Amino acid sequence: MNYTDRIKFVPTEMKKEKPLTDQLEFGKTFTDHMFMMDYDQEKGWHDPKIVPYQPLIIDPAAMVYHYGQTVFEGLKAYLTEDNRVLLFRPEKNMTRMNSSNERLCIPPIDEELVLQALKKLIAIDRDWIPASEGTSLYIRPFVIATEPYLGVAPSKKYKFMIILSPVGSYYKEGIHPVKILVENEYVRAVSGGTGTVKTAGNYAASLKAQELATSKGYSQVLWLDGLHRKYIEEVGSMNIFFKIKGEVITPALNGSILEGVTRNSILMLLNHWGVPVTERKLSIDEVYQAAIDGELEEAFGTGTAAVISPVGALFMNEQEILINNGRTGELSKKLYDTLTGIQLGTQPDPFNWMVEV
Ligand code: PMP
Repeated sequence: MNYTDRIKFVPTEMKKEKPLTDQLEFGKTFTDHMFMMDYDQEKGWHDPKIVPYQPLIIDPAAMVYHYGQTVFEGLKAYLTEDNRVLLFRPEKNMTRMNSSNERLCIPPIDEELVLQALKKLIAIDRDWIPASEGTSLYIRPFVIATEPYLGVAPSKKYKFMIILSPVGSYYKEGIHPVKILVENEYVRAVSGGTGTVKTAGNYAASLKAQELATSKGYSQVLWLDGLHRKYIEEVGSMNIFFKIKGEVITPALNGSILEGVTRNSILMLLNHWGVPVTERKLSIDEVYQAAIDGELEEAFGTGTAAVISPVGALFMNEQEILINNGRTGELSKKLYDTLTGIQLGTQPDPFNWMVEV
């Protein structure tokens, strides 16, 4: 169905000044327009519109402020050399948003309408997509519960919005490995909780451990499972992969891990290349032993922001273990080059992942 004509457009009267590409910081600058639609029980989701980017007037009793009934997504649009705008698997983000909605008792969005709204918004703010290498337009769809009510119950009113933010290159000095702290006190999520969905509370709960890791000189936290503090879950806000004796292993989706779009894409690429890859339970002890035995060849995180983030060192049991001598591994580099090449339209796209705006 074509929804585009149903989406009202109110253009801004005052275009903002665009930041210089080399001064872009993640998530600090926003484009001229935003998409919004509202939900109430009589009309369902209604009044889809693209309006000038603006502050919201929201009742202080709105339920999102008190009980955190909210979900979000994160994806990117890329400008290709031949001036096309490409989205990476956006339908996966829309589907994931509805899984998050379902878990948080938020009414489902029409994925097709939202995708068309997203394309229309990007086309309107197209001039904001930075062009230089590694840059992109970060897209943040989100829903908040807006009913003014202090009872703990699902809200009867919501707002869905999409805002856009031009982002600079994640790796200004080229892809480089990070140092990770294995966290064995705090946990990110537990099976049966909300770890499998993108809701604010998961991120609020992760701040403390991240602060501690940063203060000790580590860039991310390696999360272990909430029950035993034994099995590996994720790294920061990325999924994690290890290459041990030629086999690539990533923790199986167990009810507390977020199913990353990048994770899924890496699994597809590795299978396509014939690289042995397994999704299974993986304990931190197994990784530690593999490192001691010289069998831990590579480790890398995967996510929309960095695509691939090689892990150069793990700190655990009062000891730092180096992975691949702290250098970026061959497979990490190949995956990074392939995925970013597909996203920028410079490499063949064997799975037809890219969607043109
Ligand atoms: N885990 C968590 C907790 C995340 O927030 C993200 C980022 N969305 C990921 C993994 C990676 O997901 P994706 O590849 O879809 O960006």
